[in-house]
Amino acid sequence: LVALAGVNKRFGKAHVLKDVDLTIGKGDVVVVLGPSGSGKSTLCRTINRLERIDSGVITIDGDPLPSEGKALAQLRADVGMVFQSFNLFAHKSVLENVVLGPVKVRKVDRTVAKEKAMRLLERVGVADQANKYPAQLSGGQQQRVAIARALAMDPKVLMFDEPTSALDPEMVQEVLDVMTDLVEQGMTMVVVTHEMGFARRAADRVVFMSDGEIVEEADPDAFFTAPSSRRAQDFLGKIL
Ligand code: ATP
Ligand code: MG
Repeated sequence: LVALAGVNKRFGKAHVLKDVDLTIGKGDVVVVLGPSGSGKSTLCRTINRLERIDSGVITIDGDPLPSEGKALAQLRADVGMVFQSFNLFAHKSVLENVVLGPVKVRKVDRTVAKEKAMRLLERVGVADQANKYPAQLSGGQQQRVAIARALAMDPKVLMFDEPTSALDPEMVQEVLDVMTDLVEQGMTMVVVTHEMGFARRAADRVVFMSDGEIVEEADPDAFFTAPSSRRAQDFLGKIL
């Protein structure tokens, strides 16, 4: 579904992605781990072209990523993104946040989009908040709205960049529960997270990054019991 081959990305002198190769198949759940600054967010952002790459190739369903225009908007719809900081439109209602993308980008009829949005809000457990504004919701509720908004576009893959890191501890689980439902429904997902329990339970594969490189790509049980690289051992030693 998504393939990265020999991807390099620099910010000035900083070499942030170094010859990254990664293949994400349909239905795969890939958890990306690694220390701060290792390039996890940059990796996510290159896949929907929020960042350009300096060399290498990224393809989706075999096609190289488009760089502009309608095709780029289409790509952003196909590759959903859920950020740490929710990024909801503050001056739009919860419902409108979910309705807007499908209407504008996918050209879905507004009535149809509203019905679907309500179903999605139901699914993530915030249907009763539909007419409120984001600021009136808890962090966990806002993040669930952000997930519903991404799902409304029928993405081919959903990227999560530390979706629970900004949440109070008691709200983390409600977001992880929604993500676990998506895993069970076969959604293709790339998840950057420090929630090791989720990683171990939900991931088909763990990708460990350090210093811009994919150092290890492994089955989660193998990775958590016996990481093969020194850098992964050090990382797990610090966080577990
Ligand atoms: P964290 O766990 O802290 O979120 P990360 O693994 O997501 O870290 P990235 O945000 O991808 O790391 O950053 C990788 C490197 O690229 C860091 O050294 C960072 O300072 C640098 N970097 C990221 N974005 C930019 C930018 N827009 N301009 C310059 N440097 C950047
Ligand atoms: Mg990051």
